[in-house]
Amino acid sequence: SPVQKKVANIPKALYGGRHTVTMLPGGGIGPELMSYIREIFRYSGVPVDFEVVDIDPSSEGNDDLDYAITSIKRNGVAIKANIETKSEDTSVLSRNVALRNELDLFVNVLHCKSYPTIKSRHDNVDIIIVRQNTEGEYAMLEHESVKGVIESMKVVTAENSERVARFAFEFAKKNNRKKVTTIHKANIMKISDGLFLEVSRNVAKDYPDIKHNDMIIDNCCMQLVSNPHQFDVMNMTNLYGSITSNVICGLIGGAGLLSGRNYGDHYAIFETGTRNTGTAIAGKNIANPIAMLNAAVDMLHHLGHEHHARNLGDAINKTLIEDHIFTQDLGGSASSTDVISNIMKHLAAKRTYWHPG
Ligand code: ATP
Repeated sequence: SPVQKKVANIPKALYGGRHTVTMLPGGGIGPELMSYIREIFRYSGVPVDFEVVDIDPSSEGNDDLDYAITSIKRNGVAIKANIETKSEDTSVLSRNVALRNELDLFVNVLHCKSYPTIKSRHDNVDIIIVRQNTEGEYAMLEHESVKGVIESMKVVTAENSERVARFAFEFAKKNNRKKVTTIHKANIMKISDGLFLEVSRNVAKDYPDIKHNDMIIDNCCMQLVSNPHQFDVMNMTNLYGSITSNVICGLIGGAGLLSGRNYGDHYAIFETGTRNTGTAIAGKNIANPIAMLNAAVDMLHHLGHEHHARNLGDAINKTLIEDHIFTQDLGGSASSTDVISNIMKHLAAKRTYWHPG
């Protein structure tokens, strides 16, 4: 479809071979993870300039958020950590959700692939999660209708359900995947999840070579834990996507490993797969930097800097698979900066220009 063709395919702000990317350091471990990316990019001579936008988590207004949105609209691409919302005022919305909604980043994609040297309950997991990213249970439409009674609206539209389902099937087709499983709770939420399922079934008809089945979210969680190998590409609404992403990441190595990609027709944001803030481990040099570095690799692919994407991806893989340099969350004793130094050691061999340090 014309929509699908446009997704994530728009070259952005390229002047003399350089890109400008918005960087949102967010809270918790975000700023330290971003500093590693800047250090590695500088060291490798990656032609990307960052426009850093800080969002004050305590602010009541939306000036910082508005500026971040303007910056992303200008640059087309952002890398972000989780932004905290500290205000107790329930009318102050989550900035993370507001960003995705405002930029219409309708799909979130997670490639959940095991690393062979990281111990986990199941080996060789290789699942793609395609998640609706802007509506469903995250519509942020909650109110107290009468005292003590809260209503929260879950919004499912045919248009967004179709965009996500089509993205899932197109992804399967392009990447030679065999099956798409739509996850839902249409037995209870007959109208909302019913629509999501019906639209997915209709889209599936356009892809006769790809098998389509569906599964209820509760059974899906059990199946993921007991037999994840039955899944290939998964297609689902927003909250189920959040839950299953965390289940799978937990199964194959935790919050510090995998990246997540957010796409719309015009913009893309790269971040960690499980979107944690990591407040408790901030500033201790113990956070696993790999998930955010994988987000940087995704971003480099998106920008078309294949050479740099490959070099950084290889350096990450060598660090985990050959050198076994693991932070505490993976059962190792390396600090965050030990991991970064090891990655830079591998990148050193790839540098093609003179560097003073
Ligand atoms: P909060 O916003 O309160 O911080 P959260 O939902 O963002 O909560 P966290 O508590 O930040 O979740 O993270 C969940 C768990 O994952 C924590 O135990 C945290 O230490 C761990 N974690 C998150 N990111 C990393 C990382 N990069 N390296 C190691 N552990 C991590």
